[in-house]
Amino acid sequence: MHSWPSPFIPDVPGRGPAVHVHDTGRGAVVRLDPGPVAGLYVCGITPYDATHLGHAATYVTFDVLGRALRDAGHEVRYVQNVTDVDDPLLARAARDGLDWTHLADRETALFREDMTALAVIAPDHYLGVTESIDLIVEDVEQLEASGAAYRVKALDAAGFDVYLDIAQRPGFGDLSGLTRAQMLARFAENGGDPERDGKRDALDPLLWRTERSGEPSWDGGTLGAGRPGWHIECTALAVRYLGMPFTVQGGGSDLVFPHHEMSAVQGCALTGTRPFAEVFVHQAMVGFDGAKMSKSRGNLVLVSALRNAGVDPMAIRLALLAHHYRTEWEWTDDDLATADHRLQTWRAALSGNGGPPAEDAVEAIRQAAADDLDTPAALAAVDAWAARSLAEGGEDLGAPGVLARAVDRTLGVRI
Ligand code: ZN
Repeated sequence: MHSWPSPFIPDVPGRGPAVHVHDTGRGAVVRLDPGPVAGLYVCGITPYDATHLGHAATYVTFDVLGRALRDAGHEVRYVQNVTDVDDPLLARAARDGLDWTHLADRETALFREDMTALAVIAPDHYLGVTESIDLIVEDVEQLEASGAAYRVKALDAAGFDVYLDIAQRPGFGDLSGLTRAQMLARFAENGGDPERDGKRDALDPLLWRTERSGEPSWDGGTLGAGRPGWHIECTALAVRYLGMPFTVQGGGSDLVFPHHEMSAVQGCALTGTRPFAEVFVHQAMVGFDGAKMSKSRGNLVLVSALRNAGVDPMAIRLALLAHHYRTEWEWTDDDLATADHRLQTWRAALSGNGGPPAEDAVEAIRQAAADDLDTPAALAAVDAWAARSLAEGGEDLGAPGVLARAVDRTLGVRI
């Protein structure tokens, strides 16, 4: 499907340092060494509600990662899915009396507009589940043929569902490090079906759901008509469009288990190789009104609502960048006021005809971004230059332009 128009990425003299990020599996900051081409897969939205600031934080974080990798001299191949058919989407459409395809199209379009406004670089491949069914069916058939997956007869339909046999999978649990009890709880809370009769293990993930009355379905070849389970879409797309192992699997921290753990073991089962991704990076949750921002709680701050209220999208982006991606935080009006003030200050300083030399500030932004995406430190470096420029002026006529380009290139903030 169409993604969105990518922003222009200005050139800045020099090159950024090697990029380091925190790997969830190892629990440590590690250096990325992707070679000429870095593969980045970030899980996309389930389009049943508009983009909230928690989503925006995730996509801005991985945008900064992609920018840092480019600045360090790598080409970036970026893949993102859209879960445009799944139980929560169908349930919301039914609740609101909408056609599910209409709901998915509408919310995906809004997401694209939000991403464009926030100057997020578009994925090279932006793929919906509904346009990737053949690929997924092929992979599930292969998993079944190899003995990695098995069938369970449906009690409420004529066909059978297909599950991955998790007991055969070495490395299952390495990413999340959860106990079995914790896994069972999170699996049940996040679309899993631990109670389903006939499964070999309660944690076995659904690969293919046979056609049920009243649900959309597709031709599944030897699997029969049905639709894919949640995790297999990301497995199939990452394996096909990036190949294993790719550099970074990214997403919100609520995806560590089951989604990323399951996607990864499925990929390993499919290809017979490990690992799925070199590094797993997760964005901490953003809260509002005392709880994690989530559709189910209804405590959402929507990017589109802020935009419609006249908020400069660059102020929204700066408000997100002011928090490190691994720190949970809670959105307040102060975030926006602070970001707006910062944006105006930067614009005043960076639109002048000269200022203090900018080389150190440019270097500091690059270093901070490459150092586990330390965006608060990058912002502080620009703040310091802007404060000095506004207080003392300066004779370096090229400095504002170079720094403005560095801010745009590295942080994605257009002055
Ligand atoms: Zn995913």
